[in-house]
Order: sequence, then C-alpha cells, then structure tokens
Amino acid sequence: PQEDQFPLKDNLSFDTCLVGSVDNHSAWTSKQMIEEALRSRVKAIDPDTCDVGDEDPFFVADLGEVYRQHLRWKTNLPRVKPHYAVKCNPDKQVLRLMAALGLGFDCASKNEIETVLNLGVDPSRIIYAQPCKTKSYVRYAAQSGVKQMTFDNADELYKTKQLFPDANLYLRILTDDSASLCRLSCKFGASLDTTAKLLELAKKLELNVVGVAFHVGSRASDPKAFQRAVQDARFIFNQATDLGFNMHTLDVGGGFADDESFELMAAVLSAELDKYFPSHIRIIGEPGRYYVSTAFTIACHVIARRTVNDATLGTTSYMLHPVPHVLKNGNNVLYNVRRSGYDTPSQVEYSIWGPTCDGIDVISKGCTFPELLDVGDWLYFEEMGAYTKCSATRFNGFSDSHEVVYVCSESGAAALRYIT
Ligand code: PLP
Repeated sequence: PQEDQFPLKDNLSFDTCLVGSVDNHSAWTSKQMIEEALRSRVKAIDPDTCDVGDEDPFFVADLGEVYRQHLRWKTNLPRVKPHYAVKCNPDKQVLRLMAALGLGFDCASKNEIETVLNLGVDPSRIIYAQPCKTKSYVRYAAQSGVKQMTFDNADELYKTKQLFPDANLYLRILTDDSASLCRLSCKFGASLDTTAKLLELAKKLELNVVGVAFHVGSRASDPKAFQRAVQDARFIFNQATDLGFNMHTLDVGGGFADDESFELMAAVLSAELDKYFPSHIRIIGEPGRYYVSTAFTIACHVIARRTVNDATLGTTSYMLHPVPHVLKNGNNVLYNVRRSGYDTPSQVEYSIWGPTCDGIDVISKGCTFPELLDVGDWLYFEEMGAYTKCSATRFNGFSDSHEVVYVCSESGAAALRYIT
C-alpha cells in the first residue's frame, strides 16, 4: 500500500470523551469547544467533597487542531513526509490520529517504538532517530524490523555492525542551532570535518548508509538555519555517493515553529530542497512541537493562596498556582486576562507557583489578574501540547499522568472519521 494508506491493525474506536457530538458542534471554533470542555469538567468538581485527586490538573486536547496542522504541513511542505517526534507528546489518541493520517514516526527509545508498533503502524514508517542507542534497544529494533536509524559516531557504527548490519543508516550532522530555543548540537551531530572518516568506516564495515539527517534545534527562529543545513547535507550526500553509497533520503529533522513564522520557514526550506535535492530524493522530517503545541490546554486548580506584604513598597501581592486565563469555580465565569489590559489600577499582583516543595517550582514571578483570586478557582494555560505531559514529575508523590478531555473542532470531523 501507499504510505498514506497503511492499514491499521486494531479496531480503533474512539473510547475517550468527546465533548458532545462533533456534528452538533461543527460551527464551533476550537477555542469555544475547549472552553466548553473546561467549564463542564470544572463544574463537575466540588473540592469540598470530591475524591482524592479529582481536582488535579487536567488537559483539554483538540484533535481538530492536530488535523489542521497536518493539512497546513502538507500545503507548505509537500515534499517533506512528516515523521512525528513521539517524545514531544506521546498522547495515545494523538498518535492514533496520526497513524490513521499516514504520518511516519520518529522514535527515540524501545518504549516509543513499541507504542507506535502497537497501533498497527508498519515498522517501515518508523525512524529510530537517536544517534546514541542502547544495545538492547538496537536488538529490539532489529527484531521488530525498524530499519531506519541515525548515527553520528564510530562506536555506533561498530554497534550497528554487531547487532543490526542490515539497518538503513542516516548520518546525523551538526548544524548551527544558535537561533533556536532548545539547542541540540551541543549533544548530537557529526561535524563536517569528521564525516568523511565516518563514511569510510561505514564502507569498511559494509553498512548501508542511505541518508543524511540534521536538526536545527527546537523552535528554530531563523530560516537561514535550514538553508545552511540543507547545503551541508548536500555536501555529505556527495561525499557518501562518491564512496559508493546509495543515498536516497534526506531527513530535515524537527524544530518547526508552531506560530505564524512556520509558513516563511517552510517556504525557505522548500526552495532550498528544490535547489539542492532532485525530486527522486525522498525527504522526511521529524516535527514534534509544530503538530501538538497549540492543541493542548492545561487547567490547574488554585490549591492555596498566600498574602505577601512588602513593607518597604507598601504593596500586597499573592502567591498562587498557574496563568493567562482564569476560570472562576463558583459561577464559571471565564476571564481573558490578556484582553483586560495590565495597567488598570485595580489589577491584583500574583506570583504563581507549582505544588511541590521545591523553591525552583515557580511558574511566574509577576503577573496580574483583574480581581482577587481564591482557593478553588481554576487557571488555564493554552498551547501546552509540546514537552509538557511527557515531562511531568512524580517529585513529592504527585501523579505524572493527567486526565485528558478530548474535543474535535474540525467541522468536517475528517480527523475522527479516519478512526471511528
Ligand atoms: N527529532 C529529534 C532527533 C529530536 O531530538 C527532537 C526534539 O528534541 C525532535 C525531532 C522534535 O523537535 P521539535 O519538537 O522541535 O520539532
């Protein structure tokens, strides 16, 4: 079958909560659906009588937003086949949707590979994109038929020779990631003056190098980073081709912005790809943040409030839990604090803290709300889909798994039809 038409093994019914029927709500915007889901979930909780943990933070996920991001990707980067970076948010329903939409997957560990395979995804749609792999994980990848994997050092080549000589290898190269929020080149990527030796070693070991991979750093802000990386990748392609490797795939990694700068970045990347890589070269990418960031909102309960009097300044402020939107528990009024303006004299000043006993567990040291918040109110943060759910800590005995309420704002419900 075509890559976009891989059959799914199990019967993928939608077993989690959707807010109402999607068709009834087809005219609703994503924001309206999320707010309705927040309201009804919060309304159902009475902190004075609820079960232990019922007032813990929860997420609302809009699968329609993931679907729209996919369409946006296909429009702007038609040559680049996305392999979603599972590490970014391994939410089961998101993965199921992506599997059904025909995406590939970038996995970084045995557990991620297993999760994706259990969805019925063919192993050929997975790239084990971790240049430094645990030996037993490589054995698992070999047994499971996950052949695509990255490397950036000689030890990894010896490891591959020993455990998985048939693997299809991508040489991960160093990039200039100085303009990205989270830099990765300090840890991964072969510098260009080492690639010739690595490729010669791979040849000597009779391994299959089939492509080049790079990652410009998470949330890259300068499109030039992609430009330079594509040019460097071309150089390595030539190097490898000269040594007799059959180079057929370029992996442009992740780092794609989740905001309006995506289109510009995609245009720069597309132009560069067309300039340096003829159409028979397969191009894949490993977007993470781009696909899920805007789809998730987290709601947090105000568990405590402390008054902080500053005698010198003569001011009073309060210490609470998380930010920009406020959901009052009692009357379910929803405030959009951003629109209210921060200069109003009646604004109340807060610092916002996490629930653990660690002093570094601070969310914001200074923000204001238009009125006095209370224990029992709820705060919610938007755009919390990337590197949040999967980074939750169990420190202090808190749960690291949070309930997710799913909605789908895609009017045609196309996203859901794939999987119901
Ligand atoms: N690919 C690899 C190898 C990564 O390490 C990461 C993130 O750390 C990603 C893809 C996803 O990056 P992003 O979420 O910035 O798109």
